[in-house]
Amino acid sequence: MPSRCGTAVSPPSRLLWPHRGDPADVDIVLIDKGAPPGLFEGMTRLRVLIFLGAGIDGLRLAELPAGVGVARLATRELASEVVQYLLLRVLYRQRHAAEYAAHQQRREWRPIAPAKTPETSIVVLGAGRIGGWVAKLFAELGYRTAVWSRSLKQIDNIESFQGPSGLKAALAERDYVICALPLTGETRGILNADSFAAMKRGAFLINAGRGAHLDERALIQAIDDGQLSGACLDVCAVEPLPMSSALWTHPGVTITPHVASYWVDSGIEQAADVCRQVRSGVEIKNLVDLNRGY
Ligand code: NDP
Repeated sequence: MPSRCGTAVSPPSRLLWPHRGDPADVDIVLIDKGAPPGLFEGMTRLRVLIFLGAGIDGLRLAELPAGVGVARLATRELASEVVQYLLLRVLYRQRHAAEYAAHQQRREWRPIAPAKTPETSIVVLGAGRIGGWVAKLFAELGYRTAVWSRSLKQIDNIESFQGPSGLKAALAERDYVICALPLTGETRGILNADSFAAMKRGAFLINAGRGAHLDERALIQAIDDGQLSGACLDVCAVEPLPMSSALWTHPGVTITPHVASYWVDSGIEQAADVCRQVRSGVEIKNLVDLNRGY
């Protein structure tokens, strides 16, 4: 998939950006990054913009003609991978995986007690496909689990917090804070000095949402001050993370290169389904709510 592509699928023509043919013929655009300026000009028949990614942040939605639907990649397979990643990051730390790898190098047989699961508390910011799923798994495993979302949730054995007024209570006293939020005007920068101050001293942060959720400088400060014990970041404000970033070498920070979800096959099938829905004139399923931004 080329980057910054705008491909119109309109038999007989399938066009690859920067070729737009007659824009008035285009009814579907597939795109994997922010739209190039002017992409939508003259696309009077455009029905749907299919974003080949999970979060629609970065699209030039303001330039989108009125009435055009936006679809994103949101399959069970993609969500499953992020859920696996989040389980891994908690278990890796709780079960001292890094320490055992180091011990093995020294041929050292040294058990370390893991934190007890019923005494370990986790809050997941975002309770959608990914956040809701992983929260249920954590709760099933016996962790004290909470979610924070726009709307209140009723899920067995999971405490639910809602909206800006519920954020501090959601963050308080959690050993792990996991971000699985979409990036919107309301969630940009949500992981900042204020939210770190609201967390339990020594909390561990895992961000698999978007880099722009996090104030990276404030994170380093919070870890250096001991307010946070560390962080695992799958997403960064600038990707790839610049060589000069202090995050690379900070002992409290683990970086993974935006791989929580890796395989997009199922998403591509979903995009093809949307194309078929447009072609057959049926209602397009699972469109993004553009007012909410996710
Ligand atoms: P969903 O749309 O299913 O869920 C989003 C959740 O966030 C919902 O629970 C929603 O609340 C909550 N939310 C949205 N805005 C707010 C807000 N202002 N305040 C509180 N809660 C809010 O999204 P997914 O679970 O499918 O994906 C979430 C994000 O994960 C993606 O947008 C993307 O950024 C990231 N992602 C990262 C990947 C990676 O590889 N690192 C891969 C895939 C996704 P409510 O339920 O009340 O609507």
